[in-house]
Amino acid sequence: MTRTIPHFVGGKHLSPEGGRFADVFDPSTGSVQARVPLASADAVAAVIANAEAAQAAWAATNPQKRARVLLRFLDLVQREMTELAELLASEHGKTVDDAKGDIQRGLEVIEFSAGAPHLLKGEYSTGAGAGIDVYSMRQPLGVVAAITPFNFPAMIPLWKAGPALAAGNAVVLKPAELTPLTAIRLGELALEAGLPEGLFEVVTGSGSVVGQRLVEHPDVRKVVFTGSTEVGIEVAAGCARALKPVTLELGGKSANIVFADADLEKAVAAVPGSVFDNAGQDCCARSRLLVQRSVYDRFLELLEPAVRAWRVGDPSSADTDMGPLISAAHRDTVSGFLDDANIAFRGSAPQGDGFWFAPAVVLADPSDRIAQQEVFGPVVAVMPFDDEADAIRLANDTAYGLAGSIWTENLGRAVRVSRGVQSGVLSVNSHASVRYATPFGGMKASGLGRELGPDAAEHFTETKNVFFATDDA
Ligand code: NAP
Ligand code: MG
Repeated sequence: MTRTIPHFVGGKHLSPEGGRFADVFDPSTGSVQARVPLASADAVAAVIANAEAAQAAWAATNPQKRARVLLRFLDLVQREMTELAELLASEHGKTVDDAKGDIQRGLEVIEFSAGAPHLLKGEYSTGAGAGIDVYSMRQPLGVVAAITPFNFPAMIPLWKAGPALAAGNAVVLKPAELTPLTAIRLGELALEAGLPEGLFEVVTGSGSVVGQRLVEHPDVRKVVFTGSTEVGIEVAAGCARALKPVTLELGGKSANIVFADADLEKAVAAVPGSVFDNAGQDCCARSRLLVQRSVYDRFLELLEPAVRAWRVGDPSSADTDMGPLISAAHRDTVSGFLDDANIAFRGSAPQGDGFWFAPAVVLADPSDRIAQQEVFGPVVAVMPFDDEADAIRLANDTAYGLAGSIWTENLGRAVRVSRGVQSGVLSVNSHASVRYATPFGGMKASGLGRELGPDAAEHFTETKNVFFATDDA
């Protein structure tokens, strides 16, 4: 049954002018499950005005109170974990277990951020020069826009909202058109938790209207964007014109480098999850597998059964490793990458309705399209390398620089290679990519700036210096 969401979750529950709605699909059935309103540029301006009013009061609220509201929000979301995970899985297609992880990792950031209001403090310096002291204070920016992608519908909005709200800002969230339902529910729960009306607003609609208006609007003081490099460049250009700060978390083409001295069984076992999790729709997906030539054939032999054992199917089943792709159009794009590819072997996927796609392992040359471009699907490009220098050269041979992994039992090699690979995060003998307590972000075409970590809230503040004359002369 298709349900219609009649309003935006904003402080004022605005109705869409002219009744324009967008369909939200269930990717595992291919059918429409809900309709959400498409905001106009004028509606966005009204939401920003609400947010601005709410922000002034929030910034003046004492830090303990801000922290308590964030923790109440955390409690409410945790209490609703099962229903929210089912909703998220139904609009995204990831498994319900993965959906719980998506929400949980977002909540870790809310919890971490709830400690931040107390820690944002100024500095007083008596060393500013003769007759002058200086007080540097950190003030919230005002209204912050968060523009988010479809692939982690809870985690990425919460990564952005947590520290921004903790630092005393208002947040206007524009979720991806493909996955707005989780974000809308988070907006409702935030209100229920006691976040003042207008402080955390979720505005659904298109990137070219809602996203662009948020970028251009003079009362939006910062844009935090996660999405494709292509759109990120447009967002950065708009922010440059409006002279506002922006962080960009963009695409990736990360290398998984396996040396001959690695624990091969362990390295093989970790490959499917590293690139097929979330149906490969993960910015940190290790979508290039670089294997040292001396163990290349053996590695592929071991990999084939692991890929065939990867279970693609019903997201609500506990036995499923991976659900469908996000949309029919995206499946066409992913499948287009295989047209001219040398496929070594594939896993399987259900037939019939739903945007199913069987995982694929492709033998590639470094200059091939599939070795250079982000596929954002369950496809891995495998390439051999000769030695350490060759591995580093190949790993760096794309426009991107987000994540990567190094498999070796040689500590010195792990250190040398992690120095040489140009990416924002690397893991040795695992595929760990993100932890709330450490900064995250990409190099090169993978982004600009860092999110998360101990300074996350500070990134949503501006420094103001007040000079005090200390002599009467
Ligand atoms: P996308 O197409 O770039 O969209 C991201 C967001 O930008 C959506 O909300 C989109 O709205 C909006 N948007 C589109 N055009 C816009 C414009 N002109 N101005 C302002 N906003 C605009 O990305 P996606 O397909 O949802 O997500 C996949 C991409 O995200 C991949 O490239 C992936 O690597 C990247 N990603 C990066 C990270 C990271 O941390 N580095 C994490 C996750 C994903 P609509 O939905 O309405 O188009
Ligand atoms: Mg897109």
